[in-house]
Amino acid sequence: MKLKNYALGQWVEGEGDGKSLFNAITGDQVATATSKGLDFGEMMDYARTVGGPKLRKMTFHERGRMLKSLALYLMDKKAGFYSVSYLTGATKIDSWIDIEGGIGNLFANASLRKQFPNETFYTEGEIAPLSKGGSFIGHHILTPKQGVAIHINAFNFPVWGMLEKIAVNLLAGVPAIVKPATVTSFLTEAVVREIIASGILPEGALQLICGSANGILDHVTNQDVVTFTGSASTGKMLKVHPRLTEESVPFNMEADSLNCSVLGEDAIPGTAEFDLFIKEVQKEMTVKAGQKCTAIRRVLVPHNLVEDVQIALGKRLAKTTIGDPQQEGVRMGALAGKDQVEEVTEKVNILSKTQELVYGSLDKIDVIGADASKGAFISPILFVNNDPFNNTDCHNVEAFGPVSTIIPYKGIDEAIELAKMGKGSLVCSIVTANDQLAKEFVMGAAALHGRILILNADCAKESTGHGSPMPLLTHGGPGRAGGGEEMGGMRGVKHYMQRTAIQGSPTTLTAITNQYQVGGKPIEDVVHPFRKHFEELQVGETWITHKHTVTEADITNFANVSGDNFYAHMDVTSLDETIFEDRVAHGYFILSKAAGLFVEPKKGPVLLNYGLEEARFVKPVYPGTTIGVKFTVKQKIDQEKRSEEDIAKGIVKFLVDVYDQIGETVAVATILTMVKKLDQSS
Ligand code: NAP
Repeated sequence: MKLKNYALGQWVEGEGDGKSLFNAITGDQVATATSKGLDFGEMMDYARTVGGPKLRKMTFHERGRMLKSLALYLMDKKAGFYSVSYLTGATKIDSWIDIEGGIGNLFANASLRKQFPNETFYTEGEIAPLSKGGSFIGHHILTPKQGVAIHINAFNFPVWGMLEKIAVNLLAGVPAIVKPATVTSFLTEAVVREIIASGILPEGALQLICGSANGILDHVTNQDVVTFTGSASTGKMLKVHPRLTEESVPFNMEADSLNCSVLGEDAIPGTAEFDLFIKEVQKEMTVKAGQKCTAIRRVLVPHNLVEDVQIALGKRLAKTTIGDPQQEGVRMGALAGKDQVEEVTEKVNILSKTQELVYGSLDKIDVIGADASKGAFISPILFVNNDPFNNTDCHNVEAFGPVSTIIPYKGIDEAIELAKMGKGSLVCSIVTANDQLAKEFVMGAAALHGRILILNADCAKESTGHGSPMPLLTHGGPGRAGGGEEMGGMRGVKHYMQRTAIQGSPTTLTAITNQYQVGGKPIEDVVHPFRKHFEELQVGETWITHKHTVTEADITNFANVSGDNFYAHMDVTSLDETIFEDRVAHGYFILSKAAGLFVEPKKGPVLLNYGLEEARFVKPVYPGTTIGVKFTVKQKIDQEKRSEEDIAKGIVKFLVDVYDQIGETVAVATILTMVKKLDQSS
């Protein structure tokens, strides 16, 4: 079977015979792949001119719902993906990480839509006051880049590698071209076939290259983003492409990483933490046959526990049955192909020169249900390096398979030094029940790591483990790990957007951002905002309330109701050396009284008030002060119905500006209300 590429809205066969792709277990040919004849420049233009505009017209909420539909659709098709995944040498658990982990990323990014407004753009942070009079302010908006995301992926996660990336660029409103590593591209192709068949993504939002992508970077322009996951050598070669510099194209690199896990000095044999450590290291060595960018390559152990760790780990590794993943009882499958076996063998031979092999062999392997000579099988390999400050290969050479090195350390400072000798890693972990030790390690090692897991009995049951990047947390690492960052919730989405500072009057910025900016021209109406449905309210609409003069009786009554008898409210003789001139009204009274002024009590479209944000008491209110409220629609956030029976509603944020008789603000807050829609259908 010749894999097809998906380009310019069609499935296209590349020219020529293509590269042969093999079943990692049997060595039989599965498919061939070639991208010859594709015009990468045209594909990129197609994404920019067809996919981009369609995605940019959608709001974050619409894009998020699209991701959710896609996730549900792919979940339905997952059985088909599992059967293809076995051909890559993956076990059921490996495939689960790749396939359902990938789909999980779509779900997580779909939910992330709720943290964005139902708009095509995002307004970020606070305004910057730029003038004394308040007529000139600044703000930041983020709009989707008008280019294409080029994702060049590694072979080890053909599904997750694609989905974790496209989930983010699609939520941001940017189309993608995916280039999976050729060796396992048949699985990526199977998933893209379903994505395209679903019709859920707009035309031009996704294209696929099966085969070489040499030359693709010749066509990038300043609105594009390139992400690369793979070996440091390929990454470095691509990163210096002159087009990237000429056009200032962001290049996000996730390269190989010599991650470590540290056994805390407290975690001696017999403790829960010692067992957790052994389990985690064995898991990270053997899941995906060690072909994980986050796998534990360096096992840092207190010098007096090396033998204990070596024995316990050896016992667990001996139980790791290897073979055809579809056979009952097989715990570890094969590497992705014979080329990978050759590469790992070469690296193991280098490592063997400076450290002692204590478990496994390159020459002997027992497999279940397969022919070891035909499949890409390799035994787990464990080394001990007793001189890790001088024999440094273990900190430099990545064998991308089930290969790790035990490294002794004396004291936490040495553990930190050794961790840092990886020159920048995606992840490290420390297994300890001593939080002070954990803190010392984190503070010493964090700058060289993208993620740190602190594992102990308290969190072990629910821990997602050393090896799993989480969609809402940053994935990537400094230095050798490539210096990139991806996923990470809202942060990740922003990588595909341009941040622009906008400057102008509060009224103009209100109109652009759809968020009321203090000082903007108020829109007055004779109808109270609580009498209006969600659709009828306008951002900037302001209700000016009647007024109230605060009395001593108000303060005393509020103290009685609340039980708050703080001296400044209750004892006029106690105010020497304070900032108060008289008994001061409680801030909470001012806000409560403000509610009394702005609330329209009759039953209407407002369903409830569910909170308060950014409340500040900015000027003392003494008996005799007269207060009033300017009550302004600050922002409207559309909500989706959770079920057919749900009431259709949205969130309305109101700015509550409480001012005194000379017009100065005494308190300010934002209240959050839920307001019914006129149209109950959606
Ligand atoms: P690789 O050989 O560096 O290839 C990575 C990708 O680059 C493949 O898709 C490859 O395509 C493509 N490529 C190579 N030359 C190219 C060119 N001139 N133009 C455009 N694309 C080009 O890496 P790999 O062997 O697939 O993956 C294993 C490595 O990836 C390991 O070192 C591992 O540590 C690393 N990795 C890192 C992470 C992370 O998140 N940091 C995750 C997974 C893996 P072809 O397949 O067609 O050559």
